[in-house]
Amino acid sequence: MSKHIVIVGGGIIGLSTAYYLQKEGCQVTVIDKTNMDAGASYVNAGYVSPSHIIPLAAPGVVAQGLKWMFNSSSPFYMKPRWDIDFFKWLWFFQKSANPNKVKYAIPIIKDITLFSRELYQDIYNSGDLGVFQWERKGILMMYKTDVAGEEEIHTSKLAKGEGLEVNELNLQQLKKIEPKVADSVKGAVHYECDVHTTPNEFMEKLKAYLIKNGVIIHINEEVVDFEIGMDSISQIITTKGTYYPDEVVLTAGAWSSEIVKKLRLRLSMQAGKGYRINVPSPTGINYPAILLEKRVAITPMNTFTRFAGTMELSGINHKIHKERVDAIATASESYYDNLHIPQAAKDDAQCGLRPVSPDGLPYIGKVAPYHNLYIGAGHAMMGWSMGPGTGKLISQLICKQPLAMNMEGFNPNRKF
Ligand SMILES: Cc1cc2nc3c(=O)[nH]c(=O)nc-3n(C[C@H](O)[C@H](O)[C@H](O)COP(=O)(O)OP(=O)(O)OC[C@H]3O[C@@H](n4cnc5c(N)ncnc54)[C@H](O)[C@@H]3O)c2cc1C
Repeated sequence: MSKHIVIVGGGIIGLSTAYYLQKEGCQVTVIDKTNMDAGASYVNAGYVSPSHIIPLAAPGVVAQGLKWMFNSSSPFYMKPRWDIDFFKWLWFFQKSANPNKVKYAIPIIKDITLFSRELYQDIYNSGDLGVFQWERKGILMMYKTDVAGEEEIHTSKLAKGEGLEVNELNLQQLKKIEPKVADSVKGAVHYECDVHTTPNEFMEKLKAYLIKNGVIIHINEEVVDFEIGMDSISQIITTKGTYYPDEVVLTAGAWSSEIVKKLRLRLSMQAGKGYRINVPSPTGINYPAILLEKRVAITPMNTFTRFAGTMELSGINHKIHKERVDAIATASESYYDNLHIPQAAKDDAQCGLRPVSPDGLPYIGKVAPYHNLYIGAGHAMMGWSMGPGTGKLISQLICKQPLAMNMEGFNPNRKF
């Protein structure tokens, strides 16, 4: 009889895992506490970006964060609070933000994002999900200041060294492909290796495919506890019932660190809130772009343009701070001529919580001391890019197949 696998959390990581496990003939159940139509996997900028090789925990980030801490419209914000898990996370983050750790993380991040890009392409080619936006135009890293430009050109050299396709564009060259760019922009680095998508479209199609192919999805049902046997999980207890799985996969995003406490485990993670504004097309923006000084990501999606940004470390909450939404809109309007983000679009802004590990690498793998527990969480700003790669690796572990890549860097039991 095929294995019964219960996946806790139906974001991109959970559904990607379900996709590969059902293809291996497993009996898969996904449980999610929400309606599965909002959150990080729906509001993200839709980039599948091997170009983002530098982990969040990089030198200079902590100093920048402290500088921005009291600015209510800054792109990076840490809410000071008395929380031991937060202090520990900050300490681990600070320890990881050094050149050696960054050097270690770069090829690992690159390998899993390239692997994931390949898998998205396979999904696209297979026709399993029908037609969805999968556009390889690359991403423009646009800058207005020499400091930001020089920093990005330095990063682009690292990316080139890793074999990624990158080009530098001056304003004139930039305007040839994106005429709407304002004259105050000095230039851009064009990472041609990146692809963009429309997340809510992809998620809806993936869900429909899974249901059609026998995956059972329970929405509005929260996993609240576990029954532990000798060295394995024997029961999953939810707000609606009890499950008796052979294997358990935790893909609960920013909530993962709370839920593992029920298993007497610790996982260092913080929620990094980000916002999105959708403006119906046409906006005249043709290319995905990151506005470097303002850390805003812009994506021309199917039927609308998305403006996304901020990294707000303020715990688990979905409070929308109007000043941050306004800051994303104002920043975007200043990089393009005649771009106006209507008030209605700002009023309709949504947020999602990135699951942020302290060292910029996700937790993927089997979790000791349990024999039947796996995790896929902590992908921070890269979960959309790494989704299928993570799902495939977890399915290879569970089905005892050769692994597509070395998983040492993702070890969920690692110490910081
Ligand atoms: C504004 C923004 C822009 C971003 N842009 C990009 C981008 O362009 N490219 C990129 O690669 N990444 C991007 N990201 C990051 C990416 O979106 C996340 O890393 C990714 O969506 C995380 O996926 P996940 O499946 O781990 O978590 P989630 O999508 O949060 O899914 C976790 C699920 O678990 C469920 N859950 C939690 N606890 C329980 C429980 N106890 N019982 C049942 N269910 C539970 C939740 O309801 C949720 O649905 C962005 C994020 C944001 C916020």
